[in-house]
Amino acid sequence: MTPDAAAVDVTGPVGSDGRRPVFSRIVLKLSGEALVGSEAYGIDMETLRRIAQQIQRVVARGVQLAIVVGGGNIVRGTDISRHGIERVTGDYMGMLATVINALSLRDAIERLGIQCRVQSAIAMQQVAEPFIPLRTIRHLEKGRVVILAGGHGSPFFTTDTTAALRAAEIGADVLLKATQVDGIYTADPIRDPTATRFAHLSYLEVLTKGLAVMDNTALTLCMDNNMPIIVFDLHAEGNLERVVLGEAVGTRVDAEVTQ
Ligand code: UDP
Repeated sequence: MTPDAAAVDVTGPVGSDGRRPVFSRIVLKLSGEALVGSEAYGIDMETLRRIAQQIQRVVARGVQLAIVVGGGNIVRGTDISRHGIERVTGDYMGMLATVINALSLRDAIERLGIQCRVQSAIAMQQVAEPFIPLRTIRHLEKGRVVILAGGHGSPFFTTDTTAALRAAEIGADVLLKATQVDGIYTADPIRDPTATRFAHLSYLEVLTKGLAVMDNTALTLCMDNNMPIIVFDLHAEGNLERVVLGEAVGTRVDAEVTQ
């Protein structure tokens, strides 16, 4: 299937409950922070297991799933450069951190009997396949989950930008951005109890309101490629499946201007 063909067929098969996914191919952006659980650093095995179970539910519905994983739970280039490591080196360290996360996630997914491949933008043939878009698509068509690691291989970028780029490259229908809160709010809901959640925003509204959804490079890439984004809370049980079934979960960002 070419990326264009994927964009035309946007629904999956009907499940045993009579419900049909509204997306056939998705890119899920998981930040490193999503893997730490209640810890401040590293990878929490129980959290990994729960994420893998959510993934299992959408794969069982025939949805093609590629995951872009971050590395912020281990190293971020900007953070480490403040401690004296040269920025470009720090960014490569961050990209390598994403590979560690990808391998842990693959392990958790494969434990559930789902085939999973890791592809990396940085060559490391003993641990990951190279990222080759047509090969990614082939894995997805065979029902395998593909984890895209190593960012996009260049310093000064984020894995949000990688996710936006990869979603466009492999012809995904949507970019799902998993966060710690259930969507985009008027203000930080943890600090401001009066903050309210947006159900929908346009790309331009996100940019002009200065809402912290993803960095502007990532957002602009989505806007240029008309790639819808859904921001949602992955830690709420069953939420990934709800998004895939078209339920009003989180905040959707697309080209449509909110009335
Ligand atoms: N990074 C990079 N280029 C990329 C992707 C990531 O240099 O294309 C580096 C950057 O230092 C970043 C780190 O890898 O801080 C980890 O990625 P990110 O901060 O996006 O992880 P997340 O916040 O999603 O866990």
